[in-house]
Amino acid sequence: MKKVMGLIVLLSSLFAGAAFAQSASYSTLEVTKDVHVVTGPGYNAMFVVTSEGVIVADSINPEFASRMLEEIKKVTNKPVRYLVYSHNHRDHIAGGQVFKDAGAVLLSHEEAKNAILKKPHPDVAIPDFTWSGKKYALTLGDKTMELVYFGPNHGTGMTVYYLPKEKVMYLVDIVTPNRLPFTIIPDFDPDAWVSSLKKIEAIPFQIAVFSHEGPIGGRAEVVAQREYLADLKAEILRKMNNGENVMEIPNTIQLPKYKDWLFYKEWLPMNTWRIMLGIIMGY
Ligand SMILES: [Zn+2]
Repeated sequence: MKKVMGLIVLLSSLFAGAAFAQSASYSTLEVTKDVHVVTGPGYNAMFVVTSEGVIVADSINPEFASRMLEEIKKVTNKPVRYLVYSHNHRDHIAGGQVFKDAGAVLLSHEEAKNAILKKPHPDVAIPDFTWSGKKYALTLGDKTMELVYFGPNHGTGMTVYYLPKEKVMYLVDIVTPNRLPFTIIPDFDPDAWVSSLKKIEAIPFQIAVFSHEGPIGGRAEVVAQREYLADLKAEILRKMNNGENVMEIPNTIQLPKYKDWLFYKEWLPMNTWRIMLGIIMGY
């Protein structure tokens, strides 16, 4: 029952009932000097204070964005100058208008903007400025935030944020520490995801911030995410090669190494369907 309630709470936050969010608590943690993470119901978002203003990474939803603006004001009286969208998914980038009204320029990878334009939503403000290719260095005052695109892994135009001087990496959706990937692993390309994680591991960051769970960790969480995907795929292949009925594999699979991760029992069958269908159908 406790786990069922946990699922309901998580789903409530994922699908962002404003009433739920209003009663929820928000708090801010200092990751390292001038780098902060705001935690709210089901989600985290990051902001960086520079000598010339604030850079925000993701607005989440209108309620989260308003509460985050209040949290930022507790830390600095400098204005928010940029809001950067991590990817096109509405559950991370709604509420951008709150920051735009406060004077911020909205920024995303051009592929994310194209996807946003294809499925517009009243809560998602259109980016004012886009970048393209693999990397864009956003410099404001005394800070540089690298926006890095590793190709398709989750959503469209997925941006990884890296502060090279501070050695802080902010990872949205592609690493969720100590928790199974969400349900049917929606809008992920698992193989491309694994290769992105390998590239991320090669970057000399010292601290990682996560959009779900965490919110603060390091390289070990990135490695664990990649290993989970490899272990899941290997176990599915082992069972398929054993001649097990594929319709039964999601019900019988076990990965005891991960039994303490959140939603192990609930989501392992759904995770298995996604990876197994990818193996069978080649997507
Ligand atoms: Zn997403």
